[in-house]
Amino acid sequence: MGSVGAKEVPVLLSADGRRIDGRRLDELRPIRIQAGALHQADGSAFVEWGANKVMAAVYGPREVHPRHLQQNNKAVIQCRYNMAAFSVDERKRPGLDRRSQEISKVIGEAFESVVFAEEFPRTSIDVYIEVLQANAGTRCAGVVAASVALADAGIPMVDLLPSVAVGKIGGAIALDLKKEEDNFGEADLPMALVPQSGRLVLLQMEGHMTEAELAQALDLGVKGCRSIHETMKQALRDRYAVAPLAGGSA
Ligand code: UDP
Repeated sequence: MGSVGAKEVPVLLSADGRRIDGRRLDELRPIRIQAGALHQADGSAFVEWGANKVMAAVYGPREVHPRHLQQNNKAVIQCRYNMAAFSVDERKRPGLDRRSQEISKVIGEAFESVVFAEEFPRTSIDVYIEVLQANAGTRCAGVVAASVALADAGIPMVDLLPSVAVGKIGGAIALDLKKEEDNFGEADLPMALVPQSGRLVLLQMEGHMTEAELAQALDLGVKGCRSIHETMKQALRDRYAVAPLAGGSA
């Protein structure tokens, strides 16, 4: 532990390039995705990613509420990201604060880029993201969960939307920050990628990076997204895999 004033700052990167949880700079935390985790929703997914636990539920296309949001030429995508009061160390006040409103907005806009909304005019596609346990990168885990939930609901999309945060810790660019790295690191850069086109449809940044570091971070993030994409596809395969016919010949 080093110290800045009265605040204890953990050493985020050891001399041999290991992070506080032993990962290399380009390593993701373990991810497990379960498609179709809820019965009531039209589509759902549960994501455990490091110590994050995030549930997503999708309803629709269905009638638009409130009515005045209805659009004649396409579906509206309404996204709500919410953090449970018990999801963080210091109890979070329940309800929508500015942070969750911002995250809901950027995630909703990211999905507008991939969902074929014009196929469902005058309807709403409602995406609920509930963070049950948070350890940094929850908006990315939310995008991943919501994306698999949309696919599970049968909503037509250009592609799934893998997402990850890249950051800068101890002067180095690192993939998939955990809480201490997010809190004490120099920068945090969440992103979401359309794998097919390579287009980024969500990109935010907190902190500072040089232009060269930003290029390196984007490159690392894209690689991370491509790996997460495989896990997302596998989760859907696991859900919809057709069992071989009994008695069928080889
Ligand atoms: N966090 C918290 N209380 C809050 C908001 C965030 O403890 O009210 C923690 C939580 O672990 C979260 C992390 O800080 O995952 C980083 O939050 P950030 O706003 O960067 O969003 P995220 O990385 O989760 O997308």
